[in-house]
Amino acid sequence: MEKTGKRRHPTRRETLVGGASAAALFAAGSAAAQTAEGQPLMGNPDLPEEPRKRMGWAIVGLGTFGVGQVIPGFANARHSRMTAFVSGNSDKAQTLGERYGVGRHYDYSSFDSIAEDPEIDCVYIVLPVGLHAEYTIRALKAGKHVLCEKPMAASAKEAEAMVRAAAEAQRKLGVAYRVHFEPNNVHVLGQVRGGTLGTMRFISAEHGFSANPDYPPHKWRLEKALGGGGSLWDIGIYGINTSLMMLPGDRVTGVSAAYATPEGDPRFTEVEGAIDYRLTMASGINVQGSSSYCWSPYVSRQRYFGSEASIELQPATTYGFNQITLESGGSAPRTYQAGDAMSQFAAQVDGFSLAARGAMELRTPGEMGLRDMRIMEACYASADQGGAVVKVDIPV
Ligand code: NDP
Repeated sequence: MEKTGKRRHPTRRETLVGGASAAALFAAGSAAAQTAEGQPLMGNPDLPEEPRKRMGWAIVGLGTFGVGQVIPGFANARHSRMTAFVSGNSDKAQTLGERYGVGRHYDYSSFDSIAEDPEIDCVYIVLPVGLHAEYTIRALKAGKHVLCEKPMAASAKEAEAMVRAAAEAQRKLGVAYRVHFEPNNVHVLGQVRGGTLGTMRFISAEHGFSANPDYPPHKWRLEKALGGGGSLWDIGIYGINTSLMMLPGDRVTGVSAAYATPEGDPRFTEVEGAIDYRLTMASGINVQGSSSYCWSPYVSRQRYFGSEASIELQPATTYGFNQITLESGGSAPRTYQAGDAMSQFAAQVDGFSLAARGAMELRTPGEMGLRDMRIMEACYASADQGGAVVKVDIPV
């Protein structure tokens, strides 16, 4: 080390000598058989599909969820690739297109011409709810398969028209209920099916956040025409759909609900701010839930109570972090994670791509979205009648 603290640059001669000795060293290494050389592909690795053979996707609506979660999720997809953006803001589409290598751009008026685009197989609708039915039906008429964000539509009537349009077009229609691909929820489903809980006795679901009327993505959620409904329609639907995921083969026979919107809250002139509901199942199980636009922080919790054990998912339906706590008699509660929640976004689009090709069953078909619309409309009907039980017969 130099005492002055100043770095001394090597002379040209020192550099040449140093270079020569390095080359000599490598030459000596070769002589000892340390040679870089190619090898055959080993171990039969599970490679993703060739990009040009993957299903091509158009993303419709480049908003908070689309840009924040859906689009980045494609990075880990194995059977799906983004080929087009549909947006009312061409500058945004251009910026994102350059970032993600997506060169085909449409706007809402040129949307129908996707029919002539062979690079688009599937369309992902990420628009405000009140626009889901129109753009889903237009995409189906253009001959494309459609994955539509939750909640499926602004009413059960619209959802029925979407299901009909898919049947007429002979194309797949799915609702983007991502928990069906989220590893922690899928793991809990495996536990329920495998009998860890014994017999399921009761399910409770709480989902909510505080709606901010000045934040554009919340603003349309507070308007009936674009939101469809209030907290139940937007966030309570996670509780209903996730709970019913654990009860395959059961039927909803009765629905009751009570509004819990804070009186005089100026945010809620068009839609409800909060609602508590109960679904009675043919099996005798009750599903009890609550949804709110008036809770802080963001709450997403599912609890499954069985005869032998109970499981809590808390949080249950976040994008990147969900956590399971299993409690069974005699042992301490065990809290763990069964997988990386972030993988749900790629798994969902790949699941839909494979279903569109007929290579996999569609886990979340349009009929499931329609079922949930009917249940939520029954909740409103009950709450409008002061909580009277509305009799239904809706297969899960
Ligand atoms: P945003 O308001 O952030 O984005 C909606 C986008 O839709 C806008 O950016 C715009 O895209 C387009 N748009 C077209 N017409 C309108 C209009 N009249 N008003 C507002 N936007 C319009 O909403 P989110 O991203 O939060 O929600 C979009 C969808 O995704 C909804 O169906 C929502 O329920 C769902 N969602 C699902 C989640 C999940 O976990 N599965 C989580 C959050 C949302 P552009 O500028 O490109 O035209």
